[in-house]
Amino acid sequence: LAQLFRPLDFLGMVYREIRQGLIDMEAMFGLIDTNEEVKDAPAATALTEKGGAVRFEDVRFSYDPEREILKGVDLSVPVGGTLAVVGSSGAGKSTLARLLFRFYDVTGGRITIDGQDLRAVTQASLRRAIGIVPQDTVLFNDTIGYNIAYGRDGASRLEVEAAAKGAAIHDFILSLPQQYDTPVGERGLKLSGGEKQRVAIARTLLKDPQLLILDEATSALDSRTEAEIQETLARVAERRTTIIIAHRLSTIVHADEIVVMEAGRIVERGTHGGLLAQAGLYAEMWMRQQTEDEEALAAE
Ligand code: ADP
Ligand code: MG
Repeated sequence: LAQLFRPLDFLGMVYREIRQGLIDMEAMFGLIDTNEEVKDAPAATALTEKGGAVRFEDVRFSYDPEREILKGVDLSVPVGGTLAVVGSSGAGKSTLARLLFRFYDVTGGRITIDGQDLRAVTQASLRRAIGIVPQDTVLFNDTIGYNIAYGRDGASRLEVEAAAKGAAIHDFILSLPQQYDTPVGERGLKLSGGEKQRVAIARTLLKDPQLLILDEATSALDSRTEAEIQETLARVAERRTTIIIAHRLSTIVHADEIVVMEAGRIVERGTHGGLLAQAGLYAEMWMRQQTEDEEALAAE
């Protein structure tokens, strides 16, 4: 009976997450295939991975016809490169990630990975190629070991532990009463925001994708946890093509390119230094965050 209830439990949880607007694309696509809007083309073939180069060409998109969300976005990330996307809330940053995962189809322009239009490849192969560390991680009502192993079908315990070590959560897990078999989630141990993120990082390490999307959490972790997570993420991003949707500008200083989005358009682009020199929106955001950081430090 417990087995029967588990999927229901899971669906309930997923719908709740959707209602809350917390979109964990991996969970939604990995376990339940519910998106009726996007289907494989009849002639769809598997994506041929060549490092995960991404291109958006004049991409337009609206969730509903009355309101265009992306108004012609051009960007490209070469193999192994790091692109950071910043901008105010509602600018369309997470939408870029959803489109890349083909959660929805573009309404104009096109998106390619390694030269292949997303609409021409199978969704299964697309989703295998992309790893996402989302803003908020969905945990299943299962063991912490299961929650990590979910990153890749058929992963062995040893591989799970290696991923947990890479995500710097192995020692924490060993300190739990039942170690990797400790139940977590709504019915089990509640993990902190930082611990949940580490579970997501471990999943991603296990998946080992060429293309990585990091959607930074908006909710602030304490500054020490945040710095530690950033360090782990930087290691995960090494040698991978990476798109970082960032709220903390301090984490993207070294990105190869930074784009600033405003109301569905890229309004500035360049390196950190170049953007500061432009003395525009980015420079303003940077100055504001510096002041906030100083104030936060003074308050700690
Ligand atoms: P950001 O990540 O930059 O904060 P998003 O890409 O999440 O912004 O959202 C861009 C805009 O699209 C926002 O105005 C948001 O309200 C809207 N939006 C996001 N998801 C949906 C959805 N599922 N249906 C309708 N509108 C949405
Ligand atoms: Mg967002």
